[in-house]
Amino acid sequence: MMHRVVFLGPPGAGKGTQAAQIARDLKVPHLSTGDLLRTAVAARTPLGLEAEGYMRAGGLVPDALVLKILHERLELPDARVGYLLDGFPRNLAQAEALGTFAEIDRVISLDVSPDLLVRRLSERRVCSKCQSVYNLSTKPPKSDGKCDLDGTPLVQRPDDRAEAVTNRLKVYAEQTAPLLDYYEKRHLLRSVDASGTPDEVAARVRRALA
Ligand code: AMP
Repeated sequence: MMHRVVFLGPPGAGKGTQAAQIARDLKVPHLSTGDLLRTAVAARTPLGLEAEGYMRAGGLVPDALVLKILHERLELPDARVGYLLDGFPRNLAQAEALGTFAEIDRVISLDVSPDLLVRRLSERRVCSKCQSVYNLSTKPPKSDGKCDLDGTPLVQRPDDRAEAVTNRLKVYAEQTAPLLDYYEKRHLLRSVDASGTPDEVAARVRRALA
């Protein structure tokens, strides 16, 4: 199995859900720049305060901020055995920068049709405390509107509202999709059909990592 993996895919493709499961299999940390940024926003750190406006609008946070937060995380000892990057890189400049401080064994592209993406994003709800992710139709919480793990009310991410979703899909098409070519040329890319249940998709991802 590969141990230094990148998950690419549009918002709503299931990167976070898959990354959490596959990182457990591989016994490597799941590093999501979106989660790291949301934690910084919630903690009101200077970096979080700077990132918040970009995130709320569905745009990309400036490369320098994201690179700093990711680079620092990769220096922690648990990332020595490998890592699964979720939501990074998001553009060519980030991919180039990543190449200067980390190795990549494989890039998994999660492919989903645009209408399924929009549906998944509009139905996503997250725990405001532990960030666990639910879906109103495919993975509802056991008790209405509350996190299964800690009972905290579930909320919609501000950037899952329709106005921001359109922008995020546009940013993906313009800035992130070119990375498919970039990694294909480097013979690192495997595309996976990401429709279906999380278990079905995970089985395909495992095959692509074998
Ligand atoms: P995600 O949880 O991956 O959907 O990310 C949520 C938001 O965080 C994105 O819409 C961006 O505003 C920001 N973000 C996450 N990762 C990156 C990145 N690699 N580069 C720039 N912005 C990012």
